[in-house]
Amino acid sequence: MLVAKVALPIKLHQVFEYIVPEELQSSVSIGYRVKVPFGKRHAIGIITTVSDNSEYDIDKLKVIDEVIDNCSLFSHELWQFLLWAADYYHYPLGEVLFHAIPVLLRQGRPAAISETLVWQLTEQGKIFDSKQLSRSVKQQALLNAMQTNQIIEVDHFSAAIYNGLHRKGLIDKVAISTEVIDWQNNILSRPSPFQLNEEQRYAVDEINQHLCHFSAFLLDGVTGSGKTEVYLQVIQAVIEQGKQALVLVPEIGLTPQTIRRFKERFDVPIVILHSAMSEKARLAAWLQCKSGEVAIVVGTRSALFSPFDHLGMIIIDEEHDSSYKQQEGWRYNARDLAIVRAKIDNIPVILGSATPSLETLNNANSQRYHHLHLTERAGNAQLAKQMILDIKGLVLSAGLSQPLITQIKKHLANDNQVLLFLNRRGFSPLLICHDCGWIAECPRCDKPFTYHQKQHKLICHHCDTPRVIPEQCPKCGSTHLVPIGFGTEQLEKQLNLLFPDVPVSRIDRDSTSKKGALDNYLQNINLGGKHILVGTQILAKGHHFPDVTLVGIINVDGALFSSDFRATEHFAQIYTQVSGRAGRENKTGEVILQTYHPEHPLLNILLQQGYQAFAAQALQEREMTLLPPFSYQALIHAADRNNQHAPQFLQKIEDWLKRQFDDSSLWLFGPSPANQVKRAGYYRWQFLLQHTQRTKLQMVLNQLVSVIEQWPEGKNIRWSIDIDPIDGW
Ligand code: ADP
Ligand code: ZN
Ligand code: ZN
Repeated sequence: MLVAKVALPIKLHQVFEYIVPEELQSSVSIGYRVKVPFGKRHAIGIITTVSDNSEYDIDKLKVIDEVIDNCSLFSHELWQFLLWAADYYHYPLGEVLFHAIPVLLRQGRPAAISETLVWQLTEQGKIFDSKQLSRSVKQQALLNAMQTNQIIEVDHFSAAIYNGLHRKGLIDKVAISTEVIDWQNNILSRPSPFQLNEEQRYAVDEINQHLCHFSAFLLDGVTGSGKTEVYLQVIQAVIEQGKQALVLVPEIGLTPQTIRRFKERFDVPIVILHSAMSEKARLAAWLQCKSGEVAIVVGTRSALFSPFDHLGMIIIDEEHDSSYKQQEGWRYNARDLAIVRAKIDNIPVILGSATPSLETLNNANSQRYHHLHLTERAGNAQLAKQMILDIKGLVLSAGLSQPLITQIKKHLANDNQVLLFLNRRGFSPLLICHDCGWIAECPRCDKPFTYHQKQHKLICHHCDTPRVIPEQCPKCGSTHLVPIGFGTEQLEKQLNLLFPDVPVSRIDRDSTSKKGALDNYLQNINLGGKHILVGTQILAKGHHFPDVTLVGIINVDGALFSSDFRATEHFAQIYTQVSGRAGRENKTGEVILQTYHPEHPLLNILLQQGYQAFAAQALQEREMTLLPPFSYQALIHAADRNNQHAPQFLQKIEDWLKRQFDDSSLWLFGPSPANQVKRAGYYRWQFLLQHTQRTKLQMVLNQLVSVIEQWPEGKNIRWSIDIDPIDGW
């Protein structure tokens, strides 16, 4: 008698037992997919254990229908890693395992590259006189084309035409063999175009000494200091050992230049995992990665779950970037999990950034990570001069003050480029009735709509709901509706008026949503010559603009006075990243920051002493107030439609915790309304747990999750747990 425990992709913290029928007993093992009856349907699941007894009444167990795989989908290390991750994030194992595999495998497709079939001429077809096909002009044309080896476009002939020739025995479908690439024995890397400077050399040597065991590095290098060059050289060492490298980047679409550099440097198979990929291509990449055919994988956070034959290194570029944290469903942090995966695989992991997160800096300070510094820009580039511009009392047009406009003129006159940073897309964040004060608001979120002039729409920036622009105020009937405040669209328009002869490129989520759009902008800008770039934080993501000499930061005051304890850290990172775009090669740059609060201590420490000094001070503050990384948090979310069940549920949690744990280091906050109180029709509440010891917090959560899953109150609401949250909800 054999019983298998099977994890299913459902939101229950539970695996299900099934009887393995006699004829399948020799073909089941951990990590294999199976098809099983589940409720009234059949589901695909993954075997987590096989044993010869059951906790349940054997007679009530159902029987496995089918075993799909003949080997585990997961290596031993990857399996350990995923078990650990499910446990740590208190997320159902089935969901975690399914998250880690391509969609086609979730659907039960075989874990094999499907053969590609192509039409080929048969022996008869090769010699057949196509003139005999005069009754079907298209069949004749197709046969002709094939006989003369022309390139035939995919959709040029319909399937009926091919089938027609096939019935006549003139063509046939044959499989083309996919050749396996033996890159390990043919490594070709193009030499680095320049000599490493001393700091880069030290970093590369230091990492190369730790290639064969776990070791974590923080590559802390100012913008333009040549971090990417360090990655390229250590990857070279890894693939020369015949091992694979994984590089995580914040967003593929936003890093075309980096990707190009990888492809240009190495002549080994590189796979880029991105969201626009077809499911077939994703499965193929997954399989090639598993078999070791691929040497380098570059991808976003979910690429961390790729299977490898022999992974040799993980690199997290721009490790401070918040996109490493998944913000819905399974809320994992790929940066944190990368450390765990590297430990289990016993390989080095490198976190790179010009503005490391306070968590990572704290790990470096306490010697858990090797701290490598690149303090100077590579080549001849200099860091920019920075200044604060007090805009109190100044006239602003679309946010631009006269002194800033004068500076823009000056830089453009020298044929240089100007970058203006404004972290708000759209034309204006508010549409208001001039006669009665009515504000156009999203009814699902109770937040003002943003006015988008180009698309001629109102769009809610919280739930993405679009609306037509009303002709009249619904409250008083007035037609005098006015946009208040400004976003990138309005700034772009104003710049076009002020500088009619200068090209302006607006770079934000709206203007770069089409594939390749960002790359086009970047290439255009890099042609050189006068140019104004306007954009949101996309501009802060590591692009090089060699001709930008002036960076203007339009509006920062919101970030200075936020109640979120992480807001200052984010502001300091964005400020440092954006101002880092100015001044490359032989051009010195200038940064101008407009503010109403020039005396603000955060601005002063950042501008006068830089990010490192800011971070050191911020870490001290966090330590004094026992905030992360000096404590650990978990945030419980609850949402409902009537604004009652969610707070009641959280209140019950608080009561239970207080009864259960008498621990003065366990701090409880809430229930309190979420940062965004209402979203997409749901009222949102939160409850925060904090502890100075990670293991203690985990222990509390383990017990908590197992009881609240049983509570009937949980059925009426949506709840979830965010471990190590990076912002409120
Ligand atoms: P980062 O990733 O730190 O922003 P990059 O690696 O992209 O920096 O390097 C910034 C620029 O300096 C790139 O144009 C790169 O080609 C160049 N560079 C890197 N290392 C060197 C070096 N040792 N000597 C000269 N130029 C270099
Ligand atoms: Zn009105
Ligand atoms: Zn909305």
